[in-house]
Amino acid sequence: MSIKSAVIVGAGMAGLTAALSLARHGISSRIVEQAQQLGEVGAGLQISPNASRILRQLGVLEDLEQHWLEPAEIQLVSGVSLKPLASIPSGAFARQRWGAPYGVVHRATLQQSLLTAVLRNPLCRLELGHRIETSTADDLLAAMPDRPDLLVGADGAWSGLRARIPGSPSVAFSGNIAWRFTIPGSTAPAFLDRHSVTAFLGPQTHLVSYPLKEIDGFNIVAIAAGISPGETFLAEGSAAQRAGLMAQFAGWNRAIRDLLDLAERPNLWPLYQASAGRWQNGRDTALIGDAAHAMMPFSAQGAAMAIEDAFELAGLVATQPLPQALAAYETIRQARAARVRSRGAFNKFAYHARGPIRIGRDLVLSLRAPQSLAQDLDWLYGYQAKG
Ligand SMILES: Cc1cc2nc3c(=O)[nH]c(=O)nc-3n(C[C@H](O)[C@H](O)[C@H](O)COP(=O)(O)OP(=O)(O)OC[C@H]3O[C@@H](n4cnc5c(N)ncnc54)[C@H](O)[C@@H]3O)c2cc1C
Repeated sequence: MSIKSAVIVGAGMAGLTAALSLARHGISSRIVEQAQQLGEVGAGLQISPNASRILRQLGVLEDLEQHWLEPAEIQLVSGVSLKPLASIPSGAFARQRWGAPYGVVHRATLQQSLLTAVLRNPLCRLELGHRIETSTADDLLAAMPDRPDLLVGADGAWSGLRARIPGSPSVAFSGNIAWRFTIPGSTAPAFLDRHSVTAFLGPQTHLVSYPLKEIDGFNIVAIAAGISPGETFLAEGSAAQRAGLMAQFAGWNRAIRDLLDLAERPNLWPLYQASAGRWQNGRDTALIGDAAHAMMPFSAQGAAMAIEDAFELAGLVATQPLPQALAAYETIRQARAARVRSRGAFNKFAYHARGPIRIGRDLVLSLRAPQSLAQDLDWLYGYQAKG
């Protein structure tokens, strides 16, 4: 019943997790990645319990735990007054309530932990410096000695593999940019909490900070309106773009404006979103991760969804005939991603509220106990992906 082998295009979180998840079922894979080496792209990532549970099953979590921090809380704080608005307990609470830890880590560290496990696994093969064009995907399959049964498009937001799937999603710039940078702990202002993830909320923008153990400092992400630098995660902000960023933070607390001023060479991540569409072709190809559902980072779930997709796709193709497995994958994962996306849209509305809506938001939040806010997230963090 089970397929024997797969080709995975892309060695991001989605692709590396897919290789490990398939190997768990005895399915071999070849991961083809365009980059010459897997590098330092990005900054921090929050790994929620729904994803860390899977990383534990893949034997990756133990390594990751050496490098990450488990925040005590997720805090919501006014970006204007710096007053706390609400908090959700994390740390030991997360382990107990959701059965797996919540951690913060550098993106490169997670990628390295996954990579180490992939390189150790005899069923996984990684080929760097090889870009697959849609037109060559069939040639690639045909050229392999035992033609692989499955082609997994884990090639990110600007996926070319989508073209193999009629009616697949298209991707569009959201009008928002994530400004990402890190600052050393030695120069970090005292208002940054060294033990928690903090989302500072303000009119039409927000800023997230959390500590990163690997750099003994902080990861900072500011989300603001902006112009896309194109299909890249490596652009640096120009002086004019920085001035545009500062203008959007004009009404914010002086301490946060100073923090943005401190940023040395921040990276601009243009935020792209995928539309609805097909994620599989009923025959031999499936999209996972950002290739399927690139989404705004308002619920910090993009990588977590990529990890869930990979794990559940592997479980399905290992136990059902391929066409049924692909159809089931699409049904299960689209419902899950849609719910996460609506939570993100809700967060965006609440985080960026202004005027009377902001006052109402602050009042509602002040009436919610931390435990009850945590309960709202049971469906998300308590999810048991079937692999
Ligand atoms: C500001 C910001 C903050 C975020 N914070 C979080 C967070 O806290 N928690 C969380 O879970 N998620 C977060 N995310 C989302 C997360 O970063 C992404 O959803 C996730 O990294 C997507 O992984 P992926 O493997 O699908 O795609 P990618 O990481 O983009 O990997 C795709 C890979 O495919 C390769 N590739 C592309 N085309 C080809 C080709 N033709 N041939 C060969 N290789 C190819 C690329 O080189 C790349 O290595 C955040 C995103 C942003 C922008």
